[in-house]
Amino acid sequence: MEVVQQSVARFTILRQPRVCTGAEGWILPSKKESSAPGGRCTSTDMFKALRNSLNTIFVRVLLLALASCFLNGFVAGLDKIPRFRVVALAEHGGIHKPFVDAAKVWLGKLASENNFTVDYIEDTQKIDDAFLAQYNLFIQLNYPPYNWTDTSQAAFTKYIEEGKGGWIGFHHATLLGEFDGFPMWTWFHRFMGGVRFKNYIATFVTGTVMVEDKSHPAMKGIASPFVIENEEWYTYDTTPRPSVHVLASVDENTYTPFTDQKMGDHPVIWTNKHYQARNIYIFMGHHPELFDNQAFTLMFRNSIFWAAGQQENREK
Ligand SMILES: [Zn+2]
Repeated sequence: MEVVQQSVARFTILRQPRVCTGAEGWILPSKKESSAPGGRCTSTDMFKALRNSLNTIFVRVLLLALASCFLNGFVAGLDKIPRFRVVALAEHGGIHKPFVDAAKVWLGKLASENNFTVDYIEDTQKIDDAFLAQYNLFIQLNYPPYNWTDTSQAAFTKYIEEGKGGWIGFHHATLLGEFDGFPMWTWFHRFMGGVRFKNYIATFVTGTVMVEDKSHPAMKGIASPFVIENEEWYTYDTTPRPSVHVLASVDENTYTPFTDQKMGDHPVIWTNKHYQARNIYIFMGHHPELFDNQAFTLMFRNSIFWAAGQQENREK
């Protein structure tokens, strides 16, 4: 009897339909046909199970792929969000144009390697509180401290005094006095340690610069002394030393060729700690060749990350 039943069961398996209806896929067998006596699987059950498994795997792979795409896009999007923003007030035209142009190229490369942005303005018309609030760092790229709008002066003063961002000023930023019919900006005069522009070496001389505070972040890794070739070496009516923290000074005895255009104690890089903003003045900034000088470029990049309160991306 048992032998007969087994034969019937085997026959049942063999006669199960194996048809495909095209778009609908495999026809679901009836409940009666789907189960063999004794709860054994029929071939239809096996196909169904296989199909379900394949469907499940397919759906899982699809979901995984979609999740991966989404995550990749999300991470790529994050990577494109700038870490910080810089605005540079760049002198327009004139004798310093080659320096400003070289600075833009150099800054562009550094910004892309470190995921920050630099916006350029060539006058102070746009500067107000809301404008400056967008930026972590203000670079005064040779623009002098005169011919600023009243609104820009007030906004800049607040930005520096309240430490809303950092500041790096080059060269012309100490062109303090009465120039082009403009009066001295007294706040900026104090910010720069009370110096008044007196003269400059029109014939350009090479000089040796002594680092005075090697522990300052802006001077990190800079060999002392270092040489700056063919500079104008502005002289002032007084040294800013009593009012500022001097980071480096030029040794006037090293001037080559010789000139008697000297001021004695001659700081050339300093920071003013009486203001909340991290700030640094770097006298150099006449010739574009400065961007071939490793001490200068290292000082500039150190200053950017320090003044903006950011870490440099050293992996790139
Ligand atoms: Zn110059």
